[in-house]
Amino acid sequence: MTNDDRENHPISILLQRWYSQNKRELPWRETFDPYKIWISEIILQQTRIDQGMDYYLRFIVQYPDVLSLAAASETDVLKLWQGLGYYSRARNLHAAAKQIEDRFMGKFPTSYDDILSLKGIGEYTAAAIASIAYNQPYAVVDGNVYRVLSRLFSIATPINSTEGKKIFAATAQSILDPRHAAAHNQALMDLGATVCTPKLTKCGVCPLQPVCLACERKEVEHFPVKTIKTTVKNRYFHYFHIINRGYIWIRERREKDIWKNLYEFPLIETDIPMDLAELQKTKAFRNLFSQVTNPVFSAPYQTIHKLSHRNIFASIYRVTLSGKQDELPCPNLKISENRLPEYPISQLIHKYLKTI
Ligand code: SF4
Repeated sequence: MTNDDRENHPISILLQRWYSQNKRELPWRETFDPYKIWISEIILQQTRIDQGMDYYLRFIVQYPDVLSLAAASETDVLKLWQGLGYYSRARNLHAAAKQIEDRFMGKFPTSYDDILSLKGIGEYTAAAIASIAYNQPYAVVDGNVYRVLSRLFSIATPINSTEGKKIFAATAQSILDPRHAAAHNQALMDLGATVCTPKLTKCGVCPLQPVCLACERKEVEHFPVKTIKTTVKNRYFHYFHIINRGYIWIRERREKDIWKNLYEFPLIETDIPMDLAELQKTKAFRNLFSQVTNPVFSAPYQTIHKLSHRNIFASIYRVTLSGKQDELPCPNLKISENRLPEYPISQLIHKYLKTI
């Protein structure tokens, strides 16, 4: 490192020095393979490292490169993803692998713009791949980086505002050491994850403490600033786990909605909470059970499944049928009960199945 580097990037120097001694040992840190870095970044978008690690390792074994992922069926990819949530991530990974196969002859693109053009890859992920795999000078801005920068420079603009996004992107870029983008970005993210944490912040061991404005002013807990959260919508799902002589019925979610392409039990959704007696009066219920004689309903399994903008109030009824001719209308699909593990299902259904 030259004297010029030291003068131009003092914050980065502090970060990189700290990182060289405090780097977390993670499998995706041992590689410069853009494919593996991409998979790790997508898995970790809404998932903690300890939860995502096994998924990452299994994913890399099952699909070691772009072409093996592109050749897989979407159902198999979703099945491997089961339990991680935010299934659009898996669908986009699969679609992007096909784009790489078609547009880049199966070779992971090397330019930031080409990476950004892939399905499911936004500015953060493109910058992470370009910098970590190719050491290109793109600053990453994830939740950890927002927190560190807002405190370091005492930036009170809300991080979830349009203006805030611009300010933080420019600030992150301004402190980047372009010759060591990979180490700089990973250092900043690690510092946010382990030292400059949301609570119990460890300013005493922070390498940036001598230059941190929020720490100097004793205002660490005031940052980062966020605008008020968007409202959460409540939805009411009534599932029917219908069993008849070793067979059950499932349906694929094809609508443009949560859990697209995952399978679930026959469902009736209502705008308001309803118990079984109220449900039985609805047209949807009469349609669903129109070709069924004497169904026996158990008391429902009930849970609240929280997603980012929705609370799903779910009731799952176990229903026993005994008639030989009992059938359910399309698109419900009759399968042998023991074949259910072959289908990708939502975390909500998975949780229910674990209870029975
Ligand atoms: S000194 Fe404290 S607030 Fe400032 S960057 Fe370090 S850990 Fe965060």
